[in-house]
Amino acid sequence: QATLYIVPTPIGNLDDITTRALQTLETVNWIAAEDTRHTHKLLQHYGIKTRTMSLHEHNEDKRATMLVHRLQGGESVALVSDAGTPLISDPGFVLVRKCREHNIQVVPLPGPCAAITALSGSGLPTDRFIFEGFLPAKNQARSSALKLLLERTCTSVFYEAPRRIYDTLTDINTVLGKERQLVLAKELSKSYEAFVSGTADDIMAWMDAEPGRQKGEFVLMVAGAAPVTSELPPQALELLALLSAELP
Ligand code: SAM
Repeated sequence: QATLYIVPTPIGNLDDITTRALQTLETVNWIAAEDTRHTHKLLQHYGIKTRTMSLHEHNEDKRATMLVHRLQGGESVALVSDAGTPLISDPGFVLVRKCREHNIQVVPLPGPCAAITALSGSGLPTDRFIFEGFLPAKNQARSSALKLLLERTCTSVFYEAPRRIYDTLTDINTVLGKERQLVLAKELSKSYEAFVSGTADDIMAWMDAEPGRQKGEFVLMVAGAAPVTSELPPQALELLALLSAELP
């Protein structure tokens, strides 16, 4: 049966690809890649010779229509992005939605994703979290997005570009106050992988200490706001409960 496979690829370390992903890339008719030159390096490394075509944010509509035709004609396609899981802050949504609309089988393979990798090693609560992707580039929109975290009690996960990490940390200080705890995960699965925990000021100080630390790929995680608790200590609450039971 014609199938669209969603195939996650490594986020840094080329060994982070499953045997199932490699088999799929080898056996499909086409690989639709965000950047074919980038993907060729991975394919070359694993000796995979499958034909590729580009599918990126600027041609996704057209390509999706074309790929749906090919899938309806019985061909199979693997969708990959430059790194990690396609569709997660990456192209692919238009294609998957179209395939679902046309009852074409979609099979997503489990695999690397920077957000989940970062979260799992962060030491922040993972029972509930919100993935925010990239913050808006414009100042006002970014502040508004950050304001949503004022009362959010679960962990928030952001992707961040090196050229904007300072602005974001500065905005966090302004919008969320200087006490909010953060974890910055940098260069996951690569040789200079680092996790830094602390306030926005602590993280900026860490980056300032060595110029190389401002470069690379980042996942920024923001701890939840402390839940609003009663201002009375537990003993006082117990006493109140006892007293109110005695009251007429
Ligand atoms: N689809 C990808 C995924 O599943 O993680 C994310 C693609 S998004 C365009 C790229 C962003 O992911 C980077 O700007 C960075 O924030 C994050 N990222 C990707 N690889 C990373 C890595 N090795 N270490 C830290 N962050 C990474």
